[in-house]
Amino acid sequence: MTVSANVQEKLSRLGIRHELDLILHLPIRYEDETHLFPITDAPQGQTVQVEGVIVHNEVVVRPRRQLVCQVEDSSGILAMRFLNFYGSQIKTYAVGKRVRLLGEIRHGFFGAEMVHPKCRIVREGESLADTMTPIYPTTAGLTQKTLGKLIEQVLQDTHAMQTLTETLPEKIINTYRLAGLRDSILCLHNPPPEVSIAALQARTHPAWRRIKFDELLAQQLSMRLHYRQRRSHSAPVLTQKNTLTTHFLEQLAFKLTAAQIKVAAEISRDLAAVHPMQRLLQGDVGSGKTIVAALAALQAIENGFQAAIMAPTEILAEQHFQKLSTWFEPLGISVAWLSGSQKKKHKQAILDDIALGTAQLAVGTHALFQEQVLFHQLGLAIIDEQHRFGVHQRLALRMKGAQSNNLVPHQLMMSATPIPRTLSMSYFADLDVSVIDELPPGRAPVVTKLIADDRRSEIIARIQYACRQGKQVYWVCPLIEESDTLQLQTAMETYENLHQVFPDLNIGLVHGRLPTQEKTEVMASFKQGDIQLLVATTVIEVGVDVPNASLMVIENAERMGLSQLHQLRGRVGRGSEASICILLYQKPLSDIARKRLRIIFEHTDGFEIARQDLNLRGPGEFLGARQSGVPMLRFADLEQDGALLTAAQTTADEMLNDYPDLAQRHIERWLGDKTEYLRV
Ligand code: ADP
Ligand code: MG
Repeated sequence: MTVSANVQEKLSRLGIRHELDLILHLPIRYEDETHLFPITDAPQGQTVQVEGVIVHNEVVVRPRRQLVCQVEDSSGILAMRFLNFYGSQIKTYAVGKRVRLLGEIRHGFFGAEMVHPKCRIVREGESLADTMTPIYPTTAGLTQKTLGKLIEQVLQDTHAMQTLTETLPEKIINTYRLAGLRDSILCLHNPPPEVSIAALQARTHPAWRRIKFDELLAQQLSMRLHYRQRRSHSAPVLTQKNTLTTHFLEQLAFKLTAAQIKVAAEISRDLAAVHPMQRLLQGDVGSGKTIVAALAALQAIENGFQAAIMAPTEILAEQHFQKLSTWFEPLGISVAWLSGSQKKKHKQAILDDIALGTAQLAVGTHALFQEQVLFHQLGLAIIDEQHRFGVHQRLALRMKGAQSNNLVPHQLMMSATPIPRTLSMSYFADLDVSVIDELPPGRAPVVTKLIADDRRSEIIARIQYACRQGKQVYWVCPLIEESDTLQLQTAMETYENLHQVFPDLNIGLVHGRLPTQEKTEVMASFKQGDIQLLVATTVIEVGVDVPNASLMVIENAERMGLSQLHQLRGRVGRGSEASICILLYQKPLSDIARKRLRIIFEHTDGFEIARQDLNLRGPGEFLGARQSGVPMLRFADLEQDGALLTAAQTTADEMLNDYPDLAQRHIERWLGDKTEYLRV
């Protein structure tokens, strides 16, 4: 097939590069032109086709120029209205012409009308379409007509269609009662009139079911394959020696929750295996993931290997460093701290410790995976808040271990944003997942209050009171996405203003641009309780742990995403005191902002919030396509197709074991060259 360079460029914008991509470019909806309705009996609220003769044609000004034609059939009359029209159309739609209109009929002030219908001049008795008209997703500059023709052309091309052989074993097709692939594709492109348009639109028709199954299966196959490939490497065998870990648990001020014990055991078992662990640890904010990570690190160290913990922000990395140092140093373990902003000489000394193995645990930011960092024997890499890191950064840290020996270190990723089950079954199918599903006991739930910005004076007294009671307060400044500078400026202004309002309080300010040294000092004095009110930008979003802080004010909460709000709110309610989170918002609220605020107001469970967030935004935005690197599902809907997802999951393992060639062909068909982006 030959297409112009121009069309080719448009097609590639739609991800269409090969003939097969055209075949798999399926309609988003259909128009039914197989049927004519009498004007007066046509159903409302849906697209219908009618036919009649133009009996009146007039350009009116009310108040804008528009072309209005009256169209009549044997049952009645209908106005068609064009708000934008060419001069030539006045002639085309002359009185006496017979037209077929496709559109939605509305009953307005001037009777029944169709605004901007699809309109075509026809002869009397002209035949109707014998299949529904597919409408394809397209892009600017590429018309439905051109795209439709190209697709039609490939479907007619026997050679191209021959490549569409079955990749599913008979057995699978029978087990899940799946429709044939070729039949399904032909049916979706050109559905015969007897097919229920409702089933097509809702994507419940067997043809859609087959396509969605194939798509989900391709995703499962490619992710499980990556999983198996990584598993084929050797890893250091880190057995559970129970020397350091036992000591550590004995001196801990609290007992692990049942959920912590369960996930710690899952991780411990993985570490003792000969293949690298690739596990995602999920748990809501405050569920106590750090301690589970610490136990894993100890198991590596017990075995004479090093462990590394990487965190996305300096504040969080520093906090981990302090916490882990106080936990580990009494056990005689040396902990190193690496950040991008350290002085060269100082840094070199730390790098040497890491290279020699005298540093048994290294804690740091992304500085940890830069080239100069060489580990003596890295056994375990832990990545906190994994979604914050890019694919390449995660890969780099994992590869660190492979330098000194051929062993690939174990990898533990931690996610603060709970991931709904269907999403973790699909987009995270290349990882083993552990979930901490309970919070430590004795946490008083955070009370959330929504307050319009014009009532902000009401919260002043509340802050005053909290501080007088010896409590501490966070004041979170608005997120200004377009400009860092503006965000900083707002934070400074807020800080100044609050100084005026509370002359007798000790107020601190922390933001992303603050030099590391100062950041550390501010956070330390907040932790010690010297600072009573901490004004902060969203840098404190993740990880920060100051249990005595029990009141948080978030400004312009309507601008923030759900997971961000949930994370921020998770900074309070960490002690046994009842905590309050006040969400200040600016009116008027957009529809989506109102929905978000309602969800965060009504729910405290991170998994439930994540589920609703996924519904609100869809997986692409929820995951952030950039971070996930996994090809997005085009046809399957995780909410609707949970059963198919489970089926695809079982099938994937069966196919990789018993039909590896078919599995390979299936992946190539559906993902082609997209698999290289897979998460590492
Ligand atoms: P997150 O899962 O959000 O990373 P952290 O690991 O920061 O949570 O833990 C939150 C707080 O709960 C910390 O102060 C931690 O010391 C404390 N904590 C963790 N586990 C327990 C437990 N089993 N009992 C009581 N407190 C705990
Ligand atoms: Mg954490």
